[in-house]
Amino acid sequence: MKTTPTPRTAIVGAGPAGLLCARVLQRHGIDVTVYDADASLDARDPGGTLDLHADSGQIALEDAGLLDAFTALARPEGQVKTRLDHHGTVLGSFAPDDGDEAAPEIDRGQLRALLAAHVAPGTVRWGHKLLRAVPLGGGAHRLEFAGGATAEADLVIGADGAWSRVRPLVSAAVPRYSGVSFLDVRFDDAERRHPRIAELVGDGHLFANDGDGRAVIAQRNSNGHIRGFVALRTGLDWHTRAGLDLGDAVAVREFLLREFDGWAPQLLPFLTDSDGGYLNRPIHTLPAPLTWPHTPGVTLLGDAAHLMSPFGGFGANLAMLDGAELAGALAAEATVDDAVTRYEAAMLPRSGSHATAANDAIDRFFAIGGAHPGDLPDHAAEHRRYREAAAAYRRGEPLRAPEQAAPAGGPDGGGTVASARQRGASSNP
Ligand SMILES: Cc1cc2nc3c(=O)[nH]c(=O)nc-3n(C[C@H](O)[C@H](O)[C@H](O)COP(=O)(O)OP(=O)(O)OC[C@H]3O[C@@H](n4cnc5c(N)ncnc54)[C@H](O)[C@@H]3O)c2cc1C
Repeated sequence: MKTTPTPRTAIVGAGPAGLLCARVLQRHGIDVTVYDADASLDARDPGGTLDLHADSGQIALEDAGLLDAFTALARPEGQVKTRLDHHGTVLGSFAPDDGDEAAPEIDRGQLRALLAAHVAPGTVRWGHKLLRAVPLGGGAHRLEFAGGATAEADLVIGADGAWSRVRPLVSAAVPRYSGVSFLDVRFDDAERRHPRIAELVGDGHLFANDGDGRAVIAQRNSNGHIRGFVALRTGLDWHTRAGLDLGDAVAVREFLLREFDGWAPQLLPFLTDSDGGYLNRPIHTLPAPLTWPHTPGVTLLGDAAHLMSPFGGFGANLAMLDGAELAGALAAEATVDDAVTRYEAAMLPRSGSHATAANDAIDRFFAIGGAHPGDLPDHAAEHRRYREAAAAYRRGEPLRAPEQAAPAGGPDGGGTVASARQRGASSNP
């Protein structure tokens, strides 16, 4: 960024998008402050596992100089996938070849800690929940936080996730309920305490779908933990309609056993044996494709820009690629406006096509009476596509948009990632 005086850059949100962007900016010698609502790095349960794709998340980590650190933590064996119907019949499975690193897994908490440890001390101001950003003219904004703190910035980067407080500066779009709700479940010390679940999930993922709007998705995490989702096509207010207190684990169990009537006995422990109770996660998505007119002094990264269904596993991968590309553009372009224009010209169409594919995929997977549990994604082909797309990106070629997310994908199912960034144009230090 060659403008003088140096623009004040603020990122709102210390998730994968915001932290990755801050790290790459600092590698380019650009000052940045990150504000996050969380009281500290580990103030809340960070959630389960993510697969980082060779053509997006891993490229962003390379830009951040953190690919080796990621590889040291990552679990390539976590790429194993098993698909069952609700009778417990195995319909298909995928095991990666030795050395296949197309989409290794990492716990979200490990990834966030890794990124946070590699920004300059004091970069992240924890306990800063943005209430609003007020335009001051000329692209400057005043950030107003809960508790009364304020800050001014010449560029506000909204990386504050699904319910972004920065997004209203560029778009009136709001997330819509997808019609599918996930309930988080957790199985600790799985080999010893949940041996049947540990055996079914193995090193990777289990997807069980009854083709009638109900599914169980479970994923191996590090240190003997398994986390998962009991998922239903249902109304947003399903629990109030059922008269359920979500904090009453016994009542939720009984409800799930009724809802999943007819499921095989070996799958029922996923419904009943959660160690952490049940956390309701209604899946929301932004309209896709979403675009906005260039707005001086503000842009969005990650879920703030393109909240999409988790089917396809694109969300965190695109969030990090967004962060790397925006930071690269800010380092290379003469003005903030030029950088944001270049970044958005690549990011908006890329995220639009991915979001459309991901949102279609969740609809198909949870179609009532319409999903085909036997309609299996080709994970070997998907891994080939990640590798080919990564090679193309590195050659500076525009990458292919996904033709379609996997027909019965999951939170880490298929597709390739498009990028309009010319690798040759990036300016890594
Ligand atoms: C069930 C489920 C499974 C998923 N599985 C996958 C997967 O396998 N692979 C994948 O790539 N993606 C997956 N995703 C999507 C992925 O979680 C997101 O796309 C990713 O976390 C987006 O990163 P982000 O940095 O944009 O936003 P977030 O991770 O949401 O981070 C936003 C940050 O902003 C902070 N914040 C929020 N509001 C404010 C505020 N007002 N003021 C200050 N700070 C604020 C938050 O504390 C947080 O730290 C899944 C999502 C779900 C729901």
